[in-house]
Amino acid sequence: MISTDTSKKASLLLIYTGGTIGMRQDPSTQTLRPFDFSQILEEVPELRKFAYRIDSYTFDPIIDSSDVEPGLWQCLAGLIKEKYRMYDGFVILHGTDTMAYSASALSFMLENLAKPVIFTGSQLPIGIPRTDGRENLVSAVEIAAAKDSQGHAIVPEVCIYFDNMLMRGNRACKISSDNFTAFRTLNLPPLAEAGISIKYNSPLIIKPDDWEADLVIHTSLDTRVSILKIHPGITPHVVRNILCGEETRAVIMETYGCGNAPSKEWFLNLVRQAASSGKILLNVTQCLSGTVDMNLYSNGKALLDAGVVSGYDSTTESALGKLFFLLGQTDDNPTVKRLLNKNFRGEISK
Ligand code: ASP
Repeated sequence: MISTDTSKKASLLLIYTGGTIGMRQDPSTQTLRPFDFSQILEEVPELRKFAYRIDSYTFDPIIDSSDVEPGLWQCLAGLIKEKYRMYDGFVILHGTDTMAYSASALSFMLENLAKPVIFTGSQLPIGIPRTDGRENLVSAVEIAAAKDSQGHAIVPEVCIYFDNMLMRGNRACKISSDNFTAFRTLNLPPLAEAGISIKYNSPLIIKPDDWEADLVIHTSLDTRVSILKIHPGITPHVVRNILCGEETRAVIMETYGCGNAPSKEWFLNLVRQAASSGKILLNVTQCLSGTVDMNLYSNGKALLDAGVVSGYDSTTESALGKLFFLLGQTDDNPTVKRLLNKNFRGEISK
């Protein structure tokens, strides 16, 4: 643990998991590799100017987020639970590649959250002069510490802060591999925008029912979920393998437009076969914005009639986290199907 400042305005835990923000170029291979976290604090002396107590916790090993597994989410939830009463907010430094998956999963795993959990990272390593990491980190820290006049956190949610935008974590998608604007929540306005000041979109921010309630963490995750992305030319072999795999409890079907898929008989027969064997088939759209409505076109209605359930305007990342979480709660697939309609953490517009 490294302490940077000890004034008592707010206390934050900075959790470093890895990602570009803390990488440097390996001269022998010319690829980016993670480096020790203490060097990040040297690169961002601005953090010391806040009158906050900022402690840090570094995961071992620190990873490229393309290596993220649900085990990391379980460790993060456990760490936040363990330190919950000691800090006013948490900032998680994480690679951008899977940040939307991790933020989504954490949002479901943390119940009764009354403190900010802000993910951030960067497109350029923090040691590079034009890095976006410094601004992302400094603003994420400020947001994680922000309180209202009653002393409550302004954003008691799991969020992603990136490129001047604070976004609900389970609504975000990585939309660019090389632009500083790497994330967007295309079905929800940002929760805050940072300019000269940070402007919070208060009506959108979810507040806990009871600010004093204990944080409950759900670390039991069932990962028996597959994703079927529909595309022209998809074959019965591929669809059968994904929809009817014995190990699978649920399949996220990434469909066209407002929830449409081929109407060919072989395709619908496989969907019916999977649904009648008890599998959960969840329909999300491949579009970056908009919602699934299976009543609009006959191709969508055929899926509904075959037993497919709507994912509404969920992102795929969020649908995956929600399914891992719900399947981990119960072995009863009909119960999971019913709960998929519920809006747990603002992940769907419903
Ligand atoms: N591959 C990196 C990661 O996700 C990319 C990044 O951090 O932007 O860890």
